[in-house]
Amino acid sequence: MKTAIEVLELFENIRRAQRAGIYAPHKPLLILLSLARVQHAEARMAEFSAIDAALKQLLAEFGPSSAAKSRHYPFWHLATDGQGAIWSLSGPREILKRPAGSTPSLGELRKHHIKAGFPLEIDTALRHIPGLLQAVASRILDTYFPVTLHADIVAMLGLDLDGAVELRDGATAGFEYTSAARRKRDPGFRDRVLRAYEYRCCVCGFDLRIGHVPAGLEAAHIQWHHVGGPDIEPNGLSLCALHHKLFDLGVFTVEPAEHRIVFSQHAISGGRGMEGDLQFHGRAIYSPQHVGLLPAPEYLAWNTKNVFKTPARLVAPANATPRATH
Ligand SMILES: [Zn+2]
Repeated sequence: MKTAIEVLELFENIRRAQRAGIYAPHKPLLILLSLARVQHAEARMAEFSAIDAALKQLLAEFGPSSAAKSRHYPFWHLATDGQGAIWSLSGPREILKRPAGSTPSLGELRKHHIKAGFPLEIDTALRHIPGLLQAVASRILDTYFPVTLHADIVAMLGLDLDGAVELRDGATAGFEYTSAARRKRDPGFRDRVLRAYEYRCCVCGFDLRIGHVPAGLEAAHIQWHHVGGPDIEPNGLSLCALHHKLFDLGVFTVEPAEHRIVFSQHAISGGRGMEGDLQFHGRAIYSPQHVGLLPAPEYLAWNTKNVFKTPARLVAPANATPRATH
């Protein structure tokens, strides 16, 4: 059985599928799903078909457009990370001996009943060292997903992180947390972004204060911070908690020419008798205090490519009704 530190380091060293700035949630979602299976005392190895539906749903909700189509990639490729140290495959030899690059199709994985799971020594450690599973899951969430989505991902998986037992004294002493999630956040980012938009949601205008303190208002990164997005105003939007979450889920984005709000065709609303949140579709965001603070095209492009759930709803030709109050 591996020690807590050994297990944490193995997961820390997962070779990232993405270059800096490219977001690929496939491996972390598969690992989180597998951690949930361990926590639910399910068998170590699972057939692809047994987890396919859950993986598809996770990627459709928390991945970029069409991520679900390649959901079987990590099931196969995770086995080459760390030379098999964190993932085992089992199945017919003629499939397993294929070169790592020739991924079996979804149909082949099903037909040959290919199974995968954590290697025994990791599986055992996760089941026996109190708090280790929760520690691994928390670090993966921090490394790959914005905080706005953590609770939803955990809830969909049925992962229990609340009961996390602290790893026993010294169990992780000397363990250096080196992932991108530890890239320092600029504590001034939130203040500067909220000020730029005069302390209101740039989508809906929400500006509640408790006394003098804005409540429920957040500074969103357009290119996520943990995948290299800088802490500067052109990479920020002042959003209410609801619009921050919808933005991080890829429900809407902002187009770069006139800074209009563009909703995904996957977003359906209207349950409240009106057009619901879609009333904001096609409108320009509330302008920041000066043009130098506007969202920059390169960050909007990152967001559209990596987070937004395409296709976009059509936007009527501009009638240029700016919502700026200046
Ligand atoms: Zn809002």
